[in-house]
Amino acid sequence: MPARASLASVSPPTKPAGPGRGVVALAAPDPRALLRWYDRHRRELPWRAPPGVRQDPYKVFLSEIMLQQTTVVTVQPYYAAFLARWPSVTALAAARLEEVLSAWAGLGYYARARNLHACARAVAGEHGGRFPDSVEGLLALPGVGPYTAAAIASIAHERRAAPVDGNWERVVARLFAVEEALPKARKQLRALAETLLPAARFGDFAQAMMDLGATVCTPRKPACILCPWRENCAAQAAGNPEAYPVKAAKAARPTRRGVAFLAVRADGAVLLRTRPEKGLLGSMTEVPSTPWQEDETADPARHAPLKAQWQALNAGVSHVFSHFALELAVWRARLPAGTPAPAGHRWVKPAGFPAEAFPSVMVKVLEYLE
Ligand code: SF4
Repeated sequence: MPARASLASVSPPTKPAGPGRGVVALAAPDPRALLRWYDRHRRELPWRAPPGVRQDPYKVFLSEIMLQQTTVVTVQPYYAAFLARWPSVTALAAARLEEVLSAWAGLGYYARARNLHACARAVAGEHGGRFPDSVEGLLALPGVGPYTAAAIASIAHERRAAPVDGNWERVVARLFAVEEALPKARKQLRALAETLLPAARFGDFAQAMMDLGATVCTPRKPACILCPWRENCAAQAAGNPEAYPVKAAKAARPTRRGVAFLAVRADGAVLLRTRPEKGLLGSMTEVPSTPWQEDETADPARHAPLKAQWQALNAGVSHVFSHFALELAVWRARLPAGTPAPAGHRWVKPAGFPAEAFPSVMVKVLEYLE
C-alpha cells in the first residue's frame, strides 16, 4: 500500500514524483492526459461553449451560481428560463429582485438568487455590463466567492485559476490520498489542485476536472479503468478510492417546529407577508407563522396574525434545510370577504401566486388551502 502523500511531499506535475509519493512510485498526474480525455469525453451542457469557442462570462456566472448545491438535471430548465427571460447581465440587472426570486423559486438556497441579482447590478452599473477578467476583479463583486471567481476567470477569460468544487476535491483527495478530513482539508486540497494546472487551456482543464469527477471519479464506484490518471492515483493504487475524500463526522441536524397560519378569506385571498431581507429565505413570500424553534412554542395562538376560529389540521409539512429540519403544523381559518390585512401582511388571491416568490416549504403549506 503506498504511503499517503502530504502537500510537502507532492511534486509539481511537470516533474517526476518525489520520494514522498510512497512505496509505489507514482508519476505525477499529467494535465495534458486529462485534456486529451476531455477532448474525447466532454459533456454537452447547455451553458458550455463548443470546443475552441470562448464562453460568455454571463452564462458561466449564471450556471455556476445555479449549480452550487444543485444538480445539473435540476438546473437545466431554470438556466434555460433565466436566459430566455434575461439574456444578458444588463437585462438581469434591470429586473426587480422579486421577479428574480420568483423565477428562482424551487432551486433553494435563495441567498444565491439575491447575490446573482446584486452582482448583475454591480456588473451593469460599475463595469459597463462587462465582467472583470481577473480573479481579483471578480472577487470584488457582491456575492462572488473564490469558486465562482475562479470559474469565470478560467472558463470565460482563460486565466490560470482553479475553481475547486466538490468534484475537484474528490479527484485531488484520491490522486494524492489525502488523509486530512474535510472540511479542514480544503486548504490542502486547493494547494494540491494548483499543482495540477496545465500551462494553457485553463478553461478546458477546469471543466475537465468537473467532468472527470461527475462521470468517472464518482463518489461511489469510481470507474478507474476509464480514468486518464489511473497510473498516477495513490488511492486507486491502494485499492480504496472510495475512502477519499475523508470526511469529518457530521453533527446531527436539529429539528425546529412551528405553526403556519393559513388564513383564507371568502373571496379566496390568502394572508401572506414578506420575510425580512436578511437571513434564511430573505425577501421570500410566506404564510405567517410562529417562530421556528427547537422547543415547542407555548400558546401558538398568540402568534396568529388575526383573531379567527383557527382549526388545527391533522397533517403538517416537513422540510429539510441545510442546517435544520422543519416540522410545521398548519392551522387554517376562514374569514369574511373584506377582512382587512394586519400591518405587514397582504391578501393575495391564487391568481396572483405566480408573481410571489414562494420557497418550497411554503408551496407545501399552500397545499392545505382546500
Ligand atoms: S484512478 Fe480512480 S480514484 Fe483515481 S482519480 Fe481516477 S477515477 Fe478517481
